[in-house]
Amino acid sequence: MGIIRTKDVVFEYIRRDEEGNVEGIVKAVDNVSINIKQGDFIAVLGHNGSGKSTLAKHMNAILNPTEGTVWVDGMDTKDEKEVWNIRQTTGMVFQNPDNQIIGQVVEEDVGFGPENMGVLTKEIWERVEESLRAVGMYEFRKHSPNKLSGGQKQRVSIAGVLAMHPKCIVLDEPTAMLDPNGRKEVIRAIRGLNQVEGVTVILITHYMEEIIHADKVFVMDQGKIAMEGTPKEIFSRVEELKSLRLDVPQVTLLAYELQKKGISLPNGILTIEEFVEQLRLTMTGRRTTVE
Ligand code: ADP
Ligand code: MG
Repeated sequence: MGIIRTKDVVFEYIRRDEEGNVEGIVKAVDNVSINIKQGDFIAVLGHNGSGKSTLAKHMNAILNPTEGTVWVDGMDTKDEKEVWNIRQTTGMVFQNPDNQIIGQVVEEDVGFGPENMGVLTKEIWERVEESLRAVGMYEFRKHSPNKLSGGQKQRVSIAGVLAMHPKCIVLDEPTAMLDPNGRKEVIRAIRGLNQVEGVTVILITHYMEEIIHADKVFVMDQGKIAMEGTPKEIFSRVEELKSLRLDVPQVTLLAYELQKKGISLPNGILTIEEFVEQLRLTMTGRRTTVE
């Protein structure tokens, strides 16, 4: 069984009036069954309101399914006895770093999580150091978080989660409020967590270029998993992505348009480097087959 598994999960938000009568029901997650392997880098895409955040909140028992079951490292999230263990297994990082940083000094902030878990002081400092190094913020350990850029703050909040030694980190649009540089820094840090530290990463985003390194992508639409595959597989399905109101990366679109005009290029080109290389093969007549 994977580190995070959901089976037939449905979640409904119920809106009530003052007397408690049901005014409306929104089915935010609609019959989702997924299985995420330990160590995977998973990306979740989808336009606004497609259910990404609601699904994410099931991964550390912030929400419980209306129907179906969620297991985190084998623990059923409906089991109240396991909530503490579940929250230590899966850490969450949200959009706005300002809401997540509470310490006056960076290293203090990162130490709060392990301190609350009852980790011994000596070990807390080891964890703070290792976590800040992992996100490239060690040299800022004595700084005030208020003075940091958005990307730096977000990396500090990621370090704060990392210091709790989770097996899995769920990041809900962690770059949405950042400038392009901040976004790059944060994505680099997230990739490091996955590749160097071996943490399972679930990255929710609507920036297509952030998902090209994922092992697997889920695309959500109206609460359902509408598409599932490797980035290459997903980006090969340009028309479907457009119909789900997602922006396809420009280089992928360009390759797709050229293909339509009869120029021989493979499907699902994701980067400029790849595009240039493939175009060179085509132009020099060295391409034998198109996969
Ligand atoms: P996403 O993260 O993909 O934008 P959400 O999970 O936030 O999607 O929302 C999915 C659906 O649930 C949307 O229709 C949204 O309006 C609705 N929704 C989200 N949060 C609440 C809430 N607290 N109460 C009622 N409806 C909600
Ligand atoms: Mg959301």
